[in-house]
Amino acid sequence: MIGNRYGTHRVIEPKGVLPQPAWKIDNDMSKLYDNEILVDVMTLNIDAASFTQIRDSVGNDEEKIASKIISIVNERGKMQNPVTGSGGMLIGKVEKIGEALKGKIDLKIGDEIATLVSLSLTPLKIEKIKKVHLDKDQVDVEAKAILFESGIYAKLPPDMDRRLALAILDVAGAPAQTARLVNPNDTVVIIGAYGKSGLLCSYVAKKYAGPAGKIIAIVRSKSKAENLVKIGITDIFEADARDAVKVEEIVSKATNGRMADVTINVVNNPDTEMASILATRDYGTVYFFSMATSFTKAALGAEGVGKDVNMIIGNGYMTNHAQIALDTVRESKVLKEIFEKMY
Ligand code: NAP
Repeated sequence: MIGNRYGTHRVIEPKGVLPQPAWKIDNDMSKLYDNEILVDVMTLNIDAASFTQIRDSVGNDEEKIASKIISIVNERGKMQNPVTGSGGMLIGKVEKIGEALKGKIDLKIGDEIATLVSLSLTPLKIEKIKKVHLDKDQVDVEAKAILFESGIYAKLPPDMDRRLALAILDVAGAPAQTARLVNPNDTVVIIGAYGKSGLLCSYVAKKYAGPAGKIIAIVRSKSKAENLVKIGITDIFEADARDAVKVEEIVSKATNGRMADVTINVVNNPDTEMASILATRDYGTVYFFSMATSFTKAALGAEGVGKDVNMIIGNGYMTNHAQIALDTVRESKVLKEIFEKMY
């Protein structure tokens, strides 16, 4: 039986939509369509905005976080946080390949892969949560997942620990897009700069802006910014990114009023749209990678302050993004050491 290549055959509610915006999808793992791949899941990387929202709602308690995740997946057939709408991604072993895909894809049974499509559209059935890693937003599980025909994936690289590769691939779009957006001599503001994507984007922005460029890191606490210093970021400023006027003042002072050519938002909390917009010069670019970004707040907020900025939604996919992200970490000994220590 051939299913729809995007997975609409598994949408239960509402009918007619794609699996990502669907409320509930079919996670019955006993029937595999001929154009699906069954994955034996090892670890989920819960999207940072989603993990933070769950932790804020139930507390820093592994068991409560585990039961929240189980209840979401049981209700929806996928790990899509109903508040943030976001998912995350997973690593696992290929268990079965549908007949129609055999010989057409570069996968075989037993290959270890990371899915590069969001958990917010991936049919998932969790048997057991083995461990919640509070410091990594990762959850070790006994679970099965389905990859649709259109679903992209990456084979886990042999030169990296699985958990490290999972962490990098989770945010692969961010460093890849940064490389595309930043030009030589640019001033780049990175909001949430010592987080996982923040470090990757800071490194890439510094590389592409070059010696005459300027990278301004906005962080919640300077005491946690040592990794930024290690990768050569010197303009580090402390601010709560919900305080848009303070961020504007910081960036204005640091740029003699010129403001940023490109601002990259990689925070994991809501209400930071205006800081990103005010930090950016007219005709500059704001890249909202954060899943806590509100389209309404950004669009109406920019209009409200009369800012003519180009605003980009952080598409999780970009051509070769997985390779770019992994190579970013491979090419810098310092960055690699930082990530190996973190994951
Ligand atoms: P992360 O490692 O948790 O980093 C988030 C950073 O934001 C942390 O450094 C945090 O600082 C900082 N932050 C939070 N609230 C702040 C505030 N009010 N002011 C200043 N800084 C603040 O997250 P990540 O894994 O890099 O992910 C970053 C974002 O990308 C998340 O929103 C995630 O959902 C999103 N994401 C998007 C895609 C996509 O496809 N577009 C894919 C994956 C992830 P503290 O640690 O001090 O709180």
